[in-house]
Amino acid sequence: MSRTHAEWKQLATMLHIESRLFIDGHYTHASDGRTFECLNPATNTKLTDVGWAGEAEVDAAVAAARQAFESGTWSALPPLKRGRILKRFAALIREHVDELALLETLDMGKPIGDSTTVDVPGAAYCVEWYAEAIDKVGGEVAPVDPKLVGLVTREAIGVVAAVVPWNFPILMASWKFGPALAAGNAVIVKPSEKSPLTAIRLAGLAKQAGIPDGIFQVLPGAGDVGRALALHNGVDCIAFTGSTAVGKLIAGYAAQSNLKRVWLELGGKSPNIILEDCADLAKAARTAAGAIYYNMGEMCTAGSRVLVQRSIKERFLAEFSKAARQYFPGDPLDPATSMGAIVDKIQFDKVLSYIDQGQNEGAGLICGGRATLADTHGYFIEPTAFDCPRPDMTTCREEIFGPVLSVITFDKVEEAIRIANDTEYGLAAAVWTANVSTAHQVSRRLRAGTVWVNCYDEGGDMNLPFGGFKQSGNGRDKSLHALEKYTELKSTLIKL
Ligand code: NAP
Ligand code: MG
Repeated sequence: MSRTHAEWKQLATMLHIESRLFIDGHYTHASDGRTFECLNPATNTKLTDVGWAGEAEVDAAVAAARQAFESGTWSALPPLKRGRILKRFAALIREHVDELALLETLDMGKPIGDSTTVDVPGAAYCVEWYAEAIDKVGGEVAPVDPKLVGLVTREAIGVVAAVVPWNFPILMASWKFGPALAAGNAVIVKPSEKSPLTAIRLAGLAKQAGIPDGIFQVLPGAGDVGRALALHNGVDCIAFTGSTAVGKLIAGYAAQSNLKRVWLELGGKSPNIILEDCADLAKAARTAAGAIYYNMGEMCTAGSRVLVQRSIKERFLAEFSKAARQYFPGDPLDPATSMGAIVDKIQFDKVLSYIDQGQNEGAGLICGGRATLADTHGYFIEPTAFDCPRPDMTTCREEIFGPVLSVITFDKVEEAIRIANDTEYGLAAAVWTANVSTAHQVSRRLRAGTVWVNCYDEGGDMNLPFGGFKQSGNGRDKSLHALEKYTELKSTLIKL
């Protein structure tokens, strides 16, 4: 049901916010009573105090997960039955779409129109997709010596910790726990301290759906909780989405402890290449604006570098400036808002300092460039774009994770490919051209986990693997390939 701005504001005042940890089937306070403040970045007011898991809670959750996993209450269920319970979980997420969307919007500042149509339904769809898939994937019979039978099977890995970021809190969590649960594992979710509320609420829904105690647990807290999980000898696999810097630490923690499996979905600085034979420049410009301003630019796949061919640059920029205006920030609770608040003061200051740096290094401001809506006390920044004379400027190289685009001009396609690949990242890329040969030739040479042709951020369905080349990570979320992360391969040889 679509609601008005006034209705969402009213609902927000009546919302019950669960803020405790969820361990072994129960909501609980941290044993030392420690909490952290959870703020609404659109108003800079406190929503609640959230329980902060300490070492005792990490140990308790890992022990409960191990016990639940080994008991077989989940891992030994026929896949069809696990799938049915997960489908109930997905249905419950859908039934609670307004509540979950409101929690997400209040907690991290994204527009309610997006939380209700993208984030929460996307999480339900992900859980449902793996629920439906899991009884359809089997093993292999290897072509061995006829005196033997060689079976190749996949087994759940055990205790999986999922450490997730704040930009798409419920969605990024579901991309981990969806396949991990379907494969039969016990999962511990560590949400970001900037946006813990939907993960906490999901735990209660998981229990209601029939997921056994100890199989789905949530440990809110800061980076220390993620670190404790990554260092824990009782955790078999850590699935992480976040920054490349923290991803490297996680890999180190695994190496220092039990060599747990490490899967990393990290940052990006994705190039969006507009060639002069692009068939619809206005559409390319509108899409380029969405690619950087959707979700306040707080997207790992943000099209944060537009590479535009010189002959069409002026026309492109005129169309782009028009499109950027559609993203002017507003109250995240207003269904008409297309851009909300930056997640917190730290990120807000970081984005503004990148904007300063762009200007100091000589980039020309195409639009935006300032904080706005100061009377709200929230953290709003105008959709901003720079015309960058050189591709080695700071705003062209570093992941800003905010609504700041760098436009780089090139002459020859070869030059565009070189600039596009000249980055430590390799998450996504796009190319706009009307020539099918050029589309294939360029996309083949782009070093990125996803390449879009004449579109950006398409492919919201679960069928395509998602992840990065180079320092954008390893392994893939989504699709059947994600199941590979949460299972071990076993070869069984039977002598006849
Ligand atoms: P982050 O700072 O790396 O944090 C990610 C998670 O790790 C949070 O839960 C965080 O907890 C936790 N953490 C922080 N320090 C830790 C440590 N030393 N050990 C273990 N865990 C630790 O990233 P973020 O700022 O939340 O998210 C933005 C980043 O995520 C961007 O780089 C973006 O590109 C990337 N991202 C990638 C994808 C993808 O699929 N490739 C998707 C979305 C986002 P606290 O927040 O509580 O400190
Ligand atoms: Mg918050």
